Amino acid sequence: MIAEANVEKNERSGVAGVRQGIRLLGRLDDTLARTSVILGIFEAAVPLVAVYMGKRVIETLSSGTGEVMRVVLWAIFLNLGLTLASKWLQVQFSYGQAEMWRKKDIAVNNKLMEVDYEAVEDPRIHEKLAWLQQTEKMLDRGVPAQADYLKNMARGTFTLVAGLVMSLGVFSVPLPGTDMPLFLQNTLFLALIIALQLYSLWAGARNARGINEISESVTLPMNMLFSAYWPHWQEYSYGKDTRLYTGKALNNALRQMPAVFDRIYDAFMGKYTSIGVRTVANDILTMGLVYGFVGVKAYYGLITPPDIVLYAGTVTLMMSGLTNLAQNYSKAVRNIPYLTVLGDFLDIESERYQGTLPVEKRDDNDYVFEVKNVSFKYPGSDKYALKDVNLKLSVGEKLAVVGMNGSGKTTLIKLLTRFYDPTEGEITLNGVDIRKFNYDEYLELFSVVFQDLKLFSFDIAQNVAAGISPDEERVTEALHMAGFDERLAEMPEGIHTYLYKNFAESGVEISGGEAQKIAMARALYKDAPFVILDEPTAALDPISEFEIYTNFDNMVRGRTAVYISHRLSSCRFCDDIAVFDEGRMVQRGSHDELLRDTGGKYYELWNAQAQYYKQEEIDALL
Ligand code: ADP
Repeated sequence: MIAEANVEKNERSGVAGVRQGIRLLGRLDDTLARTSVILGIFEAAVPLVAVYMGKRVIETLSSGTGEVMRVVLWAIFLNLGLTLASKWLQVQFSYGQAEMWRKKDIAVNNKLMEVDYEAVEDPRIHEKLAWLQQTEKMLDRGVPAQADYLKNMARGTFTLVAGLVMSLGVFSVPLPGTDMPLFLQNTLFLALIIALQLYSLWAGARNARGINEISESVTLPMNMLFSAYWPHWQEYSYGKDTRLYTGKALNNALRQMPAVFDRIYDAFMGKYTSIGVRTVANDILTMGLVYGFVGVKAYYGLITPPDIVLYAGTVTLMMSGLTNLAQNYSKAVRNIPYLTVLGDFLDIESERYQGTLPVEKRDDNDYVFEVKNVSFKYPGSDKYALKDVNLKLSVGEKLAVVGMNGSGKTTLIKLLTRFYDPTEGEITLNGVDIRKFNYDEYLELFSVVFQDLKLFSFDIAQNVAAGISPDEERVTEALHMAGFDERLAEMPEGIHTYLYKNFAESGVEISGGEAQKIAMARALYKDAPFVILDEPTAALDPISEFEIYTNFDNMVRGRTAVYISHRLSSCRFCDDIAVFDEGRMVQRGSHDELLRDTGGKYYELWNAQAQYYKQEEIDALL
């Protein structure tokens, strides 16, 4: 079970939240995190050094041309060096930021592959992932944005600290004509300009919150709506439903768009104008105060002209550093929910026992599975999906599993492939509990075609090989076995024809039955010792279905095959049939044996289904 805490936001606020976000950035790419801090310091150093060198130039003006030239050259050299270094770092930084999207996606994908399967099926997790996807469309959210904030906070902090150290001199001489103690003078001055900055920040943050609320309340739901409907427009397979149901809803949403954008635009414009006016007024006031404070001391000869340049520069820089720090801190705070949800997702721990035992690779494929007294309830359900199932399956055997919908057939496969572990009992492979095996190696034993199979918008060969460099001969062979020859002959670029039109203009649309055949070819290409087909012919026409059966032996050749169907006629060719009913295996035997038991489930199902087939169809199938 995924603990509630794993799914719900484990959100911290303020500094702790920001630090947690920075840790997540470092975890995904610690080079980027380091580059952010170093770049921030370099960016801060450029103006600080320029101010200092400005002071030095003025200082040396009276001491002869040679000295001035030397200092000017140093100033140019330092400025150039620092600027070049920060540009170089900026390139690394931007590259790291761009790469970060990919790194984050890979981390999410890897997590999805590794977490217990119940998390993959958990709608709450999907909701969170969808939320992340929508939220990161806002420019100021996401992991790359966090790198920006880290860089700017480092820059602000460095400017603040270095600026303070460099301006200590201005605070060490008292203002003339007042008895106020020096400490009080400094405190008053600093308090005044800090108050100004804080006011400006507070007003800015309030506006930003307003802007944020507008974009969250209007654009986020709009984006979610679009991503929910968009596939319906793009995917032909949704076509019928779109016509009947969702098309109108999307059209209405589209119609509302201009009005929504007008509202956002008006609100943004109002807020941005007031931010602009306030910032300018604030800057003028701050500058006035700084130059007044430094200027009065200079006027009375308490500080030298070069120091005027230095102090006016450093105090102003310090204030901008403070603003920078505070602004980026508040942006980082707004990024906390995103990073928390992402971090919590990446932290979901697999609670399933992870075995380490290697799976014995056997050329003779001599594997025996035993399902021993297995019962299973889905997490959060108190109903048994499987109850007391015992079943043995040896190499080369072909087992058909039949039963009504919901009788537990797919669940059995999910347990065999360890998507879930049994609630009671155990499944063994050659006598060893399957939980003990290394899972990746264990999965290599299976080729499965699920009912709700998915193909990708790659070419046919890549789909069959489930990889980017397919063995063409084997692909063709697998497609042939799966009965895809005829359709393949019509494909404009053979096995290199793209499926669907997402990536290639020439991509082809395929029917459900054709998709099922390609998926079957994919399972055969994998060449695993166990082939599991879950309702593989559900979308096939009777002729294709018949072809698959007659070709089945040839298809699975020596491999162990489990064939699941709720259509009894389709399992007729298997000598060994297991009948499931309400989670229990109620009968096992050949078709003829099972039919002889006229009180059994198989007999009942067979008779119930027989009336849906015309006699000649049954004859054809038999
Ligand atoms: P079949 O493959 O025979 O149609 P399943 O194995 O899919 O049946 O389902 C067996 C039972 O388990 C059904 O009652 C079904 O509703 C339930 N079930 C299937 N999947 C889940 C799930 N992810 N969570 C909870 N219950 C499930």
